[in-house]
Amino acid sequence: MGTILVIAETFGGKLRKSTLNAITFARTLAGKTGGDFAIGIIGSGIAAVGGELAGYGAKGVYVIDNPGFANYLAAPFAKAIVALADQVGATSVAATSSTFTRDLLPRVAARLGAGMVSEVVAVIGDGAGVKFTRPMWAGNVMATVEVKSAKAVFGVRGTEFEAAAPSGGASPVQTVAIAPDAGANQRYVKFEPVVSSRPDLGEASVVVAGGRGLKDKAGFAILDPLADLLKAAIGGTRAVVDAGIAPNDLQIGQTGKVIAPNLYIGVALSGAIQHLAGMKASKTIVAINKDPEAPIFSVADYGLVADAFKAVPELVEEIRKIKGV
Ligand SMILES: Cc1cc2nc3c(=O)[nH]c(=O)nc-3n(C[C@H](O)[C@H](O)[C@H](O)COP(=O)(O)OP(=O)(O)OC[C@H]3O[C@@H](n4cnc5c(N)ncnc54)[C@H](O)[C@@H]3O)c2cc1C
Repeated sequence: MGTILVIAETFGGKLRKSTLNAITFARTLAGKTGGDFAIGIIGSGIAAVGGELAGYGAKGVYVIDNPGFANYLAAPFAKAIVALADQVGATSVAATSSTFTRDLLPRVAARLGAGMVSEVVAVIGDGAGVKFTRPMWAGNVMATVEVKSAKAVFGVRGTEFEAAAPSGGASPVQTVAIAPDAGANQRYVKFEPVVSSRPDLGEASVVVAGGRGLKDKAGFAILDPLADLLKAAIGGTRAVVDAGIAPNDLQIGQTGKVIAPNLYIGVALSGAIQHLAGMKASKTIVAINKDPEAPIFSVADYGLVADAFKAVPELVEEIRKIKGV
């Protein structure tokens, strides 16, 4: 398969940990096809990130650091990545699926004339017969996909590939002079980040998620002290997002974020398949629901049949006692 170019994701000049999952995918694919991989970083003021990624076994780390790439725009970023792929002789491009890469990778694929597999969860077979598994219909069907084009682009589901550990060695880090395309037909206007003191939902090791059973904003707020004590991110179902109880960026599921924390606590949510599609890879799943028949219990490691308005404050009290706070 030649060289796989892994696109690193950064935010505010810092590396997003999710990049490490795409590196594991690239190592896996390179191992199965006898190829190698390189890492590309694009942004402004991100030179230090190149050094951070030098110990993962890439044949090279390529940094495009230009003030013109300070703010993400799909068209110029896609053009730059295609130019980089050509420079390093990459036959494929891979990145961990995220809001950013879901926007970017299809454009890269179109420009490369490459077949694309999104949400890759496994690599099967090897050599020329290598194939990829991806979920369809909220994970109810797993498709096996073969790429027949000479080039390929992969969106990798980060929850299915462990974060890569450094492998030692030092890949050469090289600055590449690729400038944004001045003729691009997109203009950056503004970015309104959600400011939160909590960990990022996509990267948190503990997530407390609430559902419609919490009724309203005041009910949803019973999750706050629990999340504070566990240093957890808060998430929710589409039902609470649609009802305006929780903001859009907290949605977990098929049409929300796909997460795999070490600990997921689902409170007063039923566990609809579209929600499970976003959290069932969590390492330990705890469910609190007053209905013993709720589907969430079928995936839970620990289940508590109880009224959340009673159980959550009790849980908070017990954790406080244990932590002595
Ligand atoms: C195309 C499509 C995409 C979708 N994408 C998503 C998605 O990305 N994410 C997502 O979450 N959903 C998604 N949905 C919606 C999904 O089908 C469900 O409707 C939604 O997940 C239900 O949310 P819920 O569990 O909060 O609510 P409900 O299903 O209404 O469940 C509420 C639960 O709370 C329990 N409960 C009530 N009161 C209490 C209490 N006091 N104490 C304890 N338990 C209590 C009830 O027993 C019940 O099990 C999608 C649907 C479609 C059609």
